[in-house]
Amino acid sequence: MDRPGALAWDPDLSHELYNLGHLYEAGVAHFQATGRRTLLDVCLQSAELVWRDFGDRRLRIAPGHQVIEMGLAKLHRVTGDPRWLELARIFLEARGPAGKEYSQQHLPITQQTTAVGHAVRANYMYAGMADVAALSGDAAYVAAIGKIWDNVAEKKLSLTGGVGPLQRGEAYGADYELPNACYNETCAAIALMMWNQRMFLFTGEARYLDVLERTCYNGFISGVALTGDRFFYPNPLAYDGSAKNNHDHAGRAPWFGCACCPPNLMRTLAALTGWFYAVRDASLYVNFYAPSEGAATVADTAVRLTQATDYPWDGRIRLTVSPARPVTFTLRLRIPGWAQGHPVPSDLYTYADDNRPAWTVRVGGQVVTPELESGYAVITREWQDGDIVELNLPMPVHTVRGHPKIEAVRGAVAFERGPVVYAVEGAVNRTNPADLLVTARTKARVQRQPDLLGDVVTLVLDEVAAPEATRHVTAIPYAVWNNRGLAPMAVWLKEKAQSISQEGAE
Ligand SMILES: [Zn+2]
Repeated sequence: MDRPGALAWDPDLSHELYNLGHLYEAGVAHFQATGRRTLLDVCLQSAELVWRDFGDRRLRIAPGHQVIEMGLAKLHRVTGDPRWLELARIFLEARGPAGKEYSQQHLPITQQTTAVGHAVRANYMYAGMADVAALSGDAAYVAAIGKIWDNVAEKKLSLTGGVGPLQRGEAYGADYELPNACYNETCAAIALMMWNQRMFLFTGEARYLDVLERTCYNGFISGVALTGDRFFYPNPLAYDGSAKNNHDHAGRAPWFGCACCPPNLMRTLAALTGWFYAVRDASLYVNFYAPSEGAATVADTAVRLTQATDYPWDGRIRLTVSPARPVTFTLRLRIPGWAQGHPVPSDLYTYADDNRPAWTVRVGGQVVTPELESGYAVITREWQDGDIVELNLPMPVHTVRGHPKIEAVRGAVAFERGPVVYAVEGAVNRTNPADLLVTARTKARVQRQPDLLGDVVTLVLDEVAAPEATRHVTAIPYAVWNNRGLAPMAVWLKEKAQSISQEGAE
């Protein structure tokens, strides 16, 4: 240590800077929610210490676990102090040139092109890079973060929107390495959502929110039980019924020795509504659909926004737009990729059926035919108090196939409807879902069940081949499995081979 008084920052796997990062996030959230500076001032004093030790770049230490980069970007946004953004950049650029992939130290960050290593660390880092890219416009950051995102969307995303499938190292796998008995930590899903929200903010493109929505309704919210007091750390897409799968617990657990996921999930739930709308110039982006009331300022005018909908169980959304005075602006309604025939913004998963009912929009009861720009239906007009926009996103049941290079899902299909991925749970279906075979005659019936699992839509799959006979099984939203005890579960169901040559060979 070349300076008296400097703390002995631990360079390797230490969580000191990670803890400060979460403190900064909390301080900014507390300030924004209450207007009080009590916790924010603590954060700023701490940031002064970090600046003293790292601001001159003489001490080159990459945080042992990323997240402080995002916290610093938030301190910068709230205070306008350029040092906090510079510190975020200093920590990002302390990585590489030759270290472990596990901690994203293998290359300087602007030379990284694929998602590797510990998935929570990685996604927090990519989100921090997106913050610096958005706030500084640095072309090298923008290029790197775009390439890494393409790698995830094209080759490393589970159908549930989870990432980081390898238990060993809690890590991203190779391209198309997406096993069903996967790890997919809740925190990795949360960090992926944060990263995608930032990618949207600096591009205005809806495809990032398509990934965010898929994660949100499936591999993120699966992290908490319906009772709100038990949690998943890993979120696998299949469970074979053998003993413990969740950090030595059978099923969701009340707490973990490494307790990152439960509070992370709770703070993300609390922050979710902040992602519903966005404003840029004279455009109002409507990104998520849920019964809600919101407020925004567009074209210097306060606008109240009320959504009436039963989304994600029903795709009809009634949005009431109430500006304080008549005002012209552009309303951009996100048309989810799934409503356009694309479960994900890549060829990683595709719909095997050709059920493609058209989405429609009405304004004041009149059908309009808006242009589609970057995934948004665009409506420019003078808005009056109480104007009603009705968006209809039809929700047929889709059969999904994985890219042929995903070995684990070859010869299998999954079912989804709207943004919701379904799973078959053994407990109520009397059979291990691994033994079921989807046949050419299998049909899915949509069934609303208000008294089941907190009110969900289930899919009754008729004519599924089971060991004893052909019968029907009930699929539930993946996110609510393991709320009726722990039983085998599968998202991907094997298809009965149809080929004559295989039957003849037996
Ligand atoms: Zn976690």
